[in-house]
Amino acid sequence: VKLSLVDTLSGKCSVHGSVDRIGSKDEEGTRRIRHEDGPEQAENALTADHREALEWLASALGADPDPEAVGHRVVHGGERHVSPVVVDEDVLDDLESLSPLAPLHNPPNLAGIRVARELFPALSQVAVFDTAFHATLPDYAYRYAIPEALYQRYGIRRYGFHGLSHRYVSERAAVLLGRADLRLVTLHLGNGCSGAAVRGGRSVDTSMGMTPLEGLVMGTRCGDLDPAVPLMLQAEGALSAAQVDRLLNRESGLVALSGGEQDMRDIQARMEAGDGPARLAFEAFCYRVRKYVGAYAAVLGGLDALVFTAGIGENSAPVRAAVCSGLEFLGIRLNPALNGEKSAEERDLGDEGSSARVLVIPTNEELVIARETEAALRAGR
Ligand code: AMP
Repeated sequence: VKLSLVDTLSGKCSVHGSVDRIGSKDEEGTRRIRHEDGPEQAENALTADHREALEWLASALGADPDPEAVGHRVVHGGERHVSPVVVDEDVLDDLESLSPLAPLHNPPNLAGIRVARELFPALSQVAVFDTAFHATLPDYAYRYAIPEALYQRYGIRRYGFHGLSHRYVSERAAVLLGRADLRLVTLHLGNGCSGAAVRGGRSVDTSMGMTPLEGLVMGTRCGDLDPAVPLMLQAEGALSAAQVDRLLNRESGLVALSGGEQDMRDIQARMEAGDGPARLAFEAFCYRVRKYVGAYAAVLGGLDALVFTAGIGENSAPVRAAVCSGLEFLGIRLNPALNGEKSAEERDLGDEGSSARVLVIPTNEELVIARETEAALRAGR
């Protein structure tokens, strides 16, 4: 659980808090919170569930300054929720009905909303959807080539995720480049990873699918995979559906290829020391991203800027260099010196001769949630 206190006018976050390893019975997680200009308050503890996590954060938040509303990131909005909604019982029921589409994410989201309603009874709660930015995908991009009846009955289609992040960085790219009619490929590379093709501020394709499992290689998710593989694992390997789910969501991706490491910093360090599996993990990760950049440049009919964001995108110069290498034919020329500089600022790493800009834009999902929450309350949605 992450919590921020955001002033929607100034865009400033004055409090950041988080609790991790929720639900672990034997491994203590860290609970931390920092108020602007104050020292960080942190402790290690076992946190049984989302209620306990939110209770700790709410009490550590204190009463000053008083929040006026609570905005929640809800991972899956299905086809119905393409804009934020003020939460009531009907909305909660509706979100419950979407849980089969996002079994890992929506139930904890719902638990969080229910607890927040109890902890902040006087405040409106607004659900902001991580799928919503991708509601503009055309049907030929969001439909899978399977029978129509399955789409109608189960909602099986591409939804896409990380929408708050792709939206934030595309809006910032338009401001930085002083133009709205941009062809952008936005790359959210963190623990979860996704790419999006964005034309004129609208998402037209994205790499995650019905669930966040599809697309790029991620920390513990495999991304694109022949759908025959899980069938074979069930038939030949005698794995249950739940075991296949766990394998592909939690035991694949970087952690599988590198032989145990999911953090890109550790993989880079091991690769520099000559470790073979770490090199494979790094190269497979960057190769998959590069392939998607090429595909999305084709979708967009050219490229005005490539945008990197999230933990890996913002911080890993080696990943950015490997992704951009060989993409000169798209007009991408990374300036190695600029790429190597450490910075937490928005920046353009493109060489003078680069016809496509190469931007790093630190993401700010909390600000998008706060602003969307305010907009939903003003609109009375
Ligand atoms: P996020 O999900 O956006 O918080 O990203 C978390 C991931 O970013 C971590 O698991 C790391 O793999 C990666 N990361 C953070 N800092 C760096 C860095 N300096 N170099 C490479 N990867 C990094």
